[in-house]
Amino acid sequence: MIYTGGTIGMRENPETKALEPFDFNHLIESVPKLKMLDYVIESTQFEHPIDSSAMTPEHWKQIAKVIETNYDNYDGFVVLHGTDTMAYTASALSFMLENLDKPVIITGSQLPIGEVRTDGEENLITALQIAAARDENGSHIIREVAILFENYLWRGNRSTKRSADNFNAFRSNNYPELAKIGLGITFNRDALWRTRNHGAPLKVHYNMDCNVIFIDLFPGIEERVVRHMLNTPGIKGVVLKTFGAGNGPNSQWFLDAIHETIEKGVVVVNITQCNNGSVLPYRYVTGLDLARAGVVSGHDLTSEAAITKLMYLLGKGLPADEVKNFMEFSLCGEMSS
Ligand code: ASP
Repeated sequence: MIYTGGTIGMRENPETKALEPFDFNHLIESVPKLKMLDYVIESTQFEHPIDSSAMTPEHWKQIAKVIETNYDNYDGFVVLHGTDTMAYTASALSFMLENLDKPVIITGSQLPIGEVRTDGEENLITALQIAAARDENGSHIIREVAILFENYLWRGNRSTKRSADNFNAFRSNNYPELAKIGLGITFNRDALWRTRNHGAPLKVHYNMDCNVIFIDLFPGIEERVVRHMLNTPGIKGVVLKTFGAGNGPNSQWFLDAIHETIEKGVVVVNITQCNNGSVLPYRYVTGLDLARAGVVSGHDLTSEAAITKLMYLLGKGLPADEVKNFMEFSLCGEMSS
């Protein structure tokens, strides 16, 4: 277990009444049922547990390092994490942990584990059970980064936080659940990821390039705003959040600004603002214009997967053309094409 912080381990500050990250031992003491699990569970924690809104790629590296160092010694890993940026961490880790062949299950809770109606206890126990689960041949059932929350196990790089208060806080809008949690844990075997390099050693990529931005379109967005963002010094990648099936304004200034940015060697990726569905660059002329300007289709990537995939590919130091090529294809189950 890797405890990073989040509501699951928080306590109320008696003065401000605000929830603050708290010590891991308190979390474990709050779940005496853990002793009923017939597993050897060891744990480590961030020196200073954090609210996940404070997560950075440095923290992702810390988590990846723990997994790399302990990879051969454990059947699986459970990461306890705040929900706010859980989908970003899950997406980032899926790219950083190449050839992952064991479960990395990320979970947390909406209510602190010390509260009577907490969802944390169940989430923690189920996450551990999934991390330990083996099939009839004794092989790990889950071999990817996944998010366990309440009734579902989702692929990490397909997940999005969808509710700030519902116990079923996560969802994959374009991919089925990996498991349904009810009386038992029912795995959706056809949906599970299998590395193409079974048996290859885990290879961890620590370099994540943060020179990336989101541009979220809206009707009325002005040229000076778009150009200001695109001219951000040092920028190497842009995730453009477009309308519907990947459409943007057809104003010449907009297409010119995007085209000039791409000419400078910046990678621009098109994802849809819709929760469900995919960019279809050839469906409407407005999408086609963007494709002609050199924008890459991000198909049905989530925002979280799109931005972290760019960070990962740019972090490898690849030239823009190669980054574009890899953005179009699934590396570890993050997109449907
Ligand atoms: N703000 C908290 C966090 O992301 C929310 C949570 O854990 O549910 O750390």
